[in-house]
Amino acid sequence: MIEARGLTKHYGAKKAVDNVSFTIKPGQVTGFLGPNGAGKSTSMRLMVGLDKPSAGTVTVNGERYSGLRAPLAEIGVLLDAKGVHPGRSARSHLRALAATHGISDARVNEVIELTGLESVANKRVGGFSLGMGQRLGIAAALLGDPKVLILDEPVNGLDPDGVLWVRNLLRHLASEGRTVLLSSHLMSEMAQTADHVIVLGRGRVVADAPISDFVGNGTARVTVRSPQAAELASLVMTGRPDIDLQPLDRGDGQGFSAAGLTAAEIGEVAAVNGIVLHELTPVTGSLEDAYLQLTRDELEYAAG
Ligand code: ADP
Repeated sequence: MIEARGLTKHYGAKKAVDNVSFTIKPGQVTGFLGPNGAGKSTSMRLMVGLDKPSAGTVTVNGERYSGLRAPLAEIGVLLDAKGVHPGRSARSHLRALAATHGISDARVNEVIELTGLESVANKRVGGFSLGMGQRLGIAAALLGDPKVLILDEPVNGLDPDGVLWVRNLLRHLASEGRTVLLSSHLMSEMAQTADHVIVLGRGRVVADAPISDFVGNGTARVTVRSPQAAELASLVMTGRPDIDLQPLDRGDGQGFSAAGLTAAEIGEVAAVNGIVLHELTPVTGSLEDAYLQLTRDELEYAAG
């Protein structure tokens, strides 16, 4: 469990994180989303004590990071995969970390195996690809078998197999009852990995919801094709200012895309009025649509 209450971080006049409160629950994967500069990394740095809040608090399992006696055993962290001495081998890097916590060599070998690093474990980290570096960062995060994992862009630089591997690993760790927080700029990846999403924009929480709600929320549309499209459109719109109708890209006037009502409702209006339908397709909004809708204001602000 990670709890932020009124969490705030200023850099001079800049509010990187602005009075943010949220709870990240165990047993699920929570995704941190938001445009660049939204405050994701700063929030993560505050969680793990790499920065001090200007106001408010953030605790991990009820404790501030600085109060943890054996941090590796409580929180696994992947923030900057490049923070490893390039002259060391992967194995000696992990052993050095393990030694600070009395963690056994057997556990070092276990995480090497778990992260698929066996063949390169004795090679210098300086020669690692970005993907290998990410695997090593994840190995280090898992070393203390922590209940909480905080990973900033864990799939960055991984090939498709690696992406799938991280997704399965995170889902597995959450299913064991761990708290898993990850940030990613890859919306499609987040949609497949996260159970819950917190969207930040300009240092504030823009959304905090289960991914199913978030995707369904205002973004589901229905595609309609009919030779009487205009007539059907005016019938469904009657007395419903909340409905959003857009012509289809084809522009032949034979169809529209509607948000704010279901395919069933449109089908019933068509049947009652004897209107022929050629297509009636519910289109579930993607996380990307929902995300773009939520952050449009932030992006406009940035562009202006
Ligand atoms: P994200 O991770 O969502 O891209 P960050 O947390 O890195 O966002 O940044 C949030 C805001 O705080 C940005 O405007 C960034 O420029 C600013 N910021 C972050 N770290 C510092 C710092 N050390 N000094 C000054 N400004 C910073």
